[in-house]
Amino acid sequence: MNTFTVRAYGAESTTADLKEMNIERREATPNDVEIEILYCGVCHSDLHTARNDWGGTIYPAVPGHEIVGRITKVGSDVSKFKVGDLAGVGCIVDSCGTCESCKHDLEQYCLNGFTGTYNGKDKHLGGHTFGGYSQKVVVDSNHVLKVPENLDLAAVAPLLCAGITTWSPLKHWNVGPNSKVAVVGLGGLGHMAIKLAKGLGAEVTLFSRTPGKAEDAKQLGADHVVISTEQSEMDSVKGKFDVIIDTVPYVHDVNPYITTLNISGTLVIVGYLGGLEPILNTVPMIMGRKSVAGSVIGGIAETQEMLDFCGEHNIVSEIETIKMNEINEAYERMLKSDVKYRFVIDMQSL
Ligand code: NAP
Ligand code: ZN
Repeated sequence: MNTFTVRAYGAESTTADLKEMNIERREATPNDVEIEILYCGVCHSDLHTARNDWGGTIYPAVPGHEIVGRITKVGSDVSKFKVGDLAGVGCIVDSCGTCESCKHDLEQYCLNGFTGTYNGKDKHLGGHTFGGYSQKVVVDSNHVLKVPENLDLAAVAPLLCAGITTWSPLKHWNVGPNSKVAVVGLGGLGHMAIKLAKGLGAEVTLFSRTPGKAEDAKQLGADHVVISTEQSEMDSVKGKFDVIIDTVPYVHDVNPYITTLNISGTLVIVGYLGGLEPILNTVPMIMGRKSVAGSVIGGIAETQEMLDFCGEHNIVSEIETIKMNEINEAYERMLKSDVKYRFVIDMQSL
């Protein structure tokens, strides 16, 4: 298969800073589109992957799965896009298309495993996939999104992961005008969860460890802010929420949040992957028919639905634009929750 070389930014090992490198992209096949990447959001998953927090990272690792850009080539069988169109790519660049999940537009739960935009198994070139911290990407057109033209393009990028990851559970758990929703953690995912839940008409509360974020949260659309380290504030929302979206990336005690669920309410974990500590107490779950659930990103059709909704409601991410060579510093700042509320790389700087 013919390939071409593009510049990228990636990590060579668990402890190495990200640096410039060259990678190969395939020439577009009949079903592919080639995209010049204009902006790429910086997700906490990029950092987890670059530093092998979850195990399984294959190096060199080129992260980036909040991609927006312009189409520079279309394969002969592609009718959905033309050269010059805006396009988005999220966390999924391929899926089997035939399993029960894929047949129901749930590519994120593809029973044969979806192909991640980075650190996935590259079906075309062998080896592993490289993400959006690069000049161009070539993607199967069925996994490419149409981007609303009326929104600020850089601020759209984070919708491709932070947006869909919070939209999907909000929709699955039927959030609407009569819902009481809470969001744990005001970061990239958290601030999108507030905006989207608000857009769907819900009453929204933020749980945060950081009192300094309260004003911002209100401006983003939160009706209430609860400082999770203050017991009296936690007590004031006992039994209140229908759905809680928990975006915290590291192990933490979820028991206090379960107390704040209404009867039949659901705590959806989207952040932390792994065993919970301290142990989950089932008593409030059993006595209140409460659930603890998880959710991963969203399907392609659902991602398009979210983008269209954002276009109609003028919803974008709050961003700080950075240059490619500022990425290592950005990771350190993300670890300190020092980002309002998503870094987006201007890819022209690579
Ligand atoms: P982020 O921007 O760093 O935000 C995380 C927020 O969680 C922080 O702003 C902070 O909010 C809170 N937090 C951070 N460390 C904490 C700790 N030790 N204890 C309690 N709270 C803490 O990260 P993100 O990009 O939103 O991603 C969040 C997590 O979701 C990551 O683990 C990421 O890998 C994962 N993720 C999952 C999916 C999925 O499909 N399920 C998709 C994308 C990302 P406060 O200061 O307000 O407390
Ligand atoms: Zn992500």
